[in-house]
Amino acid sequence: TIVVLGSANMDLVVSTERAPDMGETVTGRTFRTVPGGKGANQALAAARAGGTVRFLGAVGDDEFGHRIQRLLSADGVDVSGMTASNEPTGTAHITVDGGGGNSIIVVPGANGTVTTLTDEHRGVISSAATLLLQLELPLKLVTEASAFARWAGVRTVLTPAPVIPLPEALLDNVDLLVANEHEAAVLAGHPGTGSAIDEAEAMARTLAKRTKEVVVTLGDQGAMYASGAGAPVHVPAFEVDAVDTTAAGDTFVGVLAAGLAEDLPAEVALRRASAAAALAVKRFGASTSMPTRREIDKFLAA
Ligand code: ADP
Repeated sequence: TIVVLGSANMDLVVSTERAPDMGETVTGRTFRTVPGGKGANQALAAARAGGTVRFLGAVGDDEFGHRIQRLLSADGVDVSGMTASNEPTGTAHITVDGGGGNSIIVVPGANGTVTTLTDEHRGVISSAATLLLQLELPLKLVTEASAFARWAGVRTVLTPAPVIPLPEALLDNVDLLVANEHEAAVLAGHPGTGSAIDEAEAMARTLAKRTKEVVVTLGDQGAMYASGAGAPVHVPAFEVDAVDTTAAGDTFVGVLAAGLAEDLPAEVALRRASAAAALAVKRFGASTSMPTRREIDKFLAA
């Protein structure tokens, strides 16, 4: 089983020609509500790719929360460990302007109430093969969960987003770190020389001294994978017309975890993750863009 201990949000996305200045009102173009949050996204990506997934976290007892639970359940994610909080479901208030730039306000809501690792959490984690963590729940909880997983012999995969300098105790408990370039630079220090691929290689080498395995993702330039003292390996991206790169990283992590849970060799699981992320950037949204196992197989066979 893959267990995700993480966030679930409703993304409230407004598109507008121009974002308003403080005190100003403008007329927008469209408004959409899209389930998201890194935890929910990774859970969904892993389940669609064929993983057996359980979600631990919280939503509000409200319409957004119920919709997120229905969406995850419909794809086979076990949401019995997703508790109903007195706080409203977390929301991300996203404004996308005519130039494609965005500004975002995240209100953690129910996600912020998941502050302690409960006996139920411990029970579910100890029965898992893999634990997926991100940094959208309180850091103390994430650190505690990583320590428990290490003790229980469960493989821990961390997406360090939104990135902050991490306590040693957390990084030392992580088996696989999957960071984008920006996150890797915050954690490894910026090597500041050469091409993006050379820099990713240097950062992956540095981070692989701390965790067993590291992936540094590079958008349309693919990803760099490092394990132990061996030379890092470049995993190319698939060439697609990018429509919306939201949740590319989460799709990559979820599908990678699903592959590793099936005991696929790392290179094979990475190639599947890269294909799934490419499929996700071809479509709008987060949860709405993630491919199924069949779609991934078909894309790889083409
Ligand atoms: P994040 O979304 O966390 O910033 P990245 O942008 O690095 O992460 O993307 C994660 C992975 O998604 C990449 O390693 C790559 O495999 C895939 N990907 C991202 N953008 C594209 C793109 N434009 N075309 C093809 N694949 C992409």
